Amino acid sequence: MIIGLTGTIGSGKSTVSARLAKLGALVLDADTISREAVKKGADGLNKIAEVFGKEVIDANGELDRKALAGIVFSDESKRLILNGIIHPQVLKALKERTHGEKALNPDRMIVWDVPLLIEVGWVEYVDSVWLVTAPEQTRINRIMARDGCTIKQAQSRICAQMSEEEKARFSNEIIDNGGSLEQLYQRVDALYSEYSNMQSL
Ligand code: ADP
Repeated sequence: MIIGLTGTIGSGKSTVSARLAKLGALVLDADTISREAVKKGADGLNKIAEVFGKEVIDANGELDRKALAGIVFSDESKRLILNGIIHPQVLKALKERTHGEKALNPDRMIVWDVPLLIEVGWVEYVDSVWLVTAPEQTRINRIMARDGCTIKQAQSRICAQMSEEEKARFSNEIIDNGGSLEQLYQRVDALYSEYSNMQSL
C-alpha cells in the first residue's frame, strides 16, 4: 500500500510522516531525495550545470543554491526547466525504492512524503492520497514558531502553494490537524491500522 502524504506548509505533514514511520511505515521523503539528486557527482547536478552553466556550481563542485535560486526565481521558464530536470529523478528514485521495499516486505506501508504531490501530478502513482490540513491562522503561527519568520513571510509561503480546498478535491483522506498532537496521533494511528489491512491496487 503506497500512501501519498501531502499538505500545505505548516499543516503538520512532517509530524504525521514521523508518526507513520514510528508505527512501522517506510517513509520516502521527496525533499531529501531531491537534495540527493543534486549532490556532487549526481546526474541531476551534471544536467543542471549543462543547462544553467558553470556559475551554478561552487568552487567545491557542489550546487550553488543561491546562484541557481537567483536564476529561477526571476524567470518562470527557467524554473520549469529546473523542475523538468529534478522531478523525473525524484520520481524515479521513489519508484525504485518502493519497488525494492515491496520485494522485501510486501505488506509494509510505504509513504511518499511529497509536499507538491498533487501539483506535480503524482497522485496516479499512489494508492491513496492523505492531506494534512489545519486552519490558516494555526499554520501561520506554527510556521512562525518553527522557522522564526515574520507573519508576512509565513503568509507568502502559504500563498505560493495551491489552496487546501483545491488539494482536498484530489485527496482520499483528510487529516485535520487543527487540534492537539494527541488528537492528531489518534487519527493517524487509526488510519495506519485501517490501511495496513487493505490490499494495494
Ligand atoms: P509541515 O511539515 O506541514 O510544514 P510540521 O509537521 O513541521 O509542518 O509542523 C509545523 C510545526 O507545528 C512544527 O514545529 C510541529 O512540531 C508543530 N505542530 C504540528 N502539529 C501540531 C499540533 N497538533 N499541536 C501543536 N504543534 C503542532
